[in-house]
Amino acid sequence: MPRRPETRVLTVVDAVQGEYSRTITSRPVTFTCGACGATETRDQLPGPVPRYCRLCWPTVQAQRNTERQRRYRARHRLT
Ligand SMILES: [Zn+2]
Repeated sequence: MPRRPETRVLTVVDAVQGEYSRTITSRPVTFTCGACGATETRDQLPGPVPRYCRLCWPTVQAQRNTERQRRYRARHRLT
């Protein structure tokens, strides 16, 4: 399937240059999933590279949620 680069216009507020806008364009980024080891290529806007493939990500998110809730309960001394 053809990929269409995604562009996004950001408004940046800078102390020196004031307010200006810049356009960022996504580009394909290849990364290895930290959970299953699969290689996936995904169009990404500049920034951190994803760590998990789209199959593992929901599972990882769910685990993080469970862990966070467990810590929250421990901190607040709930059962
Ligand atoms: Zn994976």
